[in-house]
Amino acid sequence: MKEELIKLDQILPQVAEGKEVLWRNPKVIPFEEAKKELPLGMEDILDAEGRLERFAPLIAKLFPETKSQGGIIESPLQEIPSMKELMEKKYGLDFQGGRLFLKRDSDLAVAGSVKARGGIYEVLKHTEDLIGHRKDWADLSKEELKDSLSEYKVQVGSTGNLGMSIGIMSAALGYEAIVHMSKDAKEWKKEKLRSQGVTVIEYEGDYGEAVAQGRRESDQDPKSYFVDDENSKDLFLGYSVAALRLKKQLEDLEISVDDTHPLIVYIPCGVGGAPGGIAFGLKEVYGDNVKVFFVEPTEAPCMLVGLATGMHNKVSVQDLGLSGNTHADGLAVSRPSGFVGKVMEPLLEGEITVKDSRLYDYLRDLKASEEIFIEPSSCAGFQGPLMTIKEYPEHFFKQGTHIVWATGGSLVPEKTREEFYNTYL
Ligand SMILES: *Cc1c(COP(=O)(O)O)cnc(C)c1O
Repeated sequence: MKEELIKLDQILPQVAEGKEVLWRNPKVIPFEEAKKELPLGMEDILDAEGRLERFAPLIAKLFPETKSQGGIIESPLQEIPSMKELMEKKYGLDFQGGRLFLKRDSDLAVAGSVKARGGIYEVLKHTEDLIGHRKDWADLSKEELKDSLSEYKVQVGSTGNLGMSIGIMSAALGYEAIVHMSKDAKEWKKEKLRSQGVTVIEYEGDYGEAVAQGRRESDQDPKSYFVDDENSKDLFLGYSVAALRLKKQLEDLEISVDDTHPLIVYIPCGVGGAPGGIAFGLKEVYGDNVKVFFVEPTEAPCMLVGLATGMHNKVSVQDLGLSGNTHADGLAVSRPSGFVGKVMEPLLEGEITVKDSRLYDYLRDLKASEEIFIEPSSCAGFQGPLMTIKEYPEHFFKQGTHIVWATGGSLVPEKTREEFYNTYL
């Protein structure tokens, strides 16, 4: 199988050897053209944004830490000039006037990761589907919520962060929440979930197995809803709202985005939902003036393999002889979402891969230069500028705004952070 597969794209022999690569997507086309074929559009993103606004008063009530933002869960966009300087010196990069920003989804309220976007949105959407639109969400007491929702279950399979987002939100609304976790999931995440009243079921196998088993159990119960990370349009749309929020933040910072000042965005990718949703939203907002790259571990580059072979969810990284094992637990996915892969085909600029050892270097670099902690998976984005600046001499990158999307970290306990700072592979 491997021998046949690596013939499908010239990057694949290197990918199969576990090398770090930058792959330019040959199928990316002008957005005006791509748009015609997309299954979703701006009206879907606006609908999702509206739903988050309807629920905002309730979120503010259930999670007091969101009160100051009126129950809107959003993260800061922060310029990181010291990290830029460090990268220029340490890695021999030249940003040539380009600026470097960190989108701090690592600090999103409630779930401490990008999953707060999709996961929370999907639970809210499901709640509306169950008991209808209402204007008075915030007037309901916890007991009233529990009375309407406790007979229903919400279940999900997860390597960790999606489980945290869905589990915490579902339990807070009064659902019976069950999270099926793979072997990659960290102990502290399981403990945190249990402390919030979520049932955690552990599996010896990988993410795919936890999902399959979780789905089987959920399907046997008519009052149970299974969040399908691989195919969910709702998750995807929850993530896409990030683009509208980012647009506002860039405007506030008076950063222009046009054909001489492109936005170049690097997002860590697991199954594809989070980076896919964000990328789709950004394309709808900025069209060809945004270039989006996904970043994956060299041992688990499932979206790259799916796109480069054109086989999407019909192929796994094991088919290419890779292990699928990575320290980046949020990215430890062997088979990509077919739904996301097909949407991304005409939109994605390219794919970049990164070795695990570098994730810890970037983690220490960011801490040392900016005093910011993010988790290893989340550090993958820093491989982005490293690869694009070296490999794209074209003018458009020179005055670009580079955004590294930090996808998780704020809930990581201090002890685990110390372990990360001291991990050298
Ligand atoms: C889930 C996750 C991602 C990637 O999201 P997918 O939807 O799986 O592609 C990236 N970083 C972190 C920290 C995550 O938890």
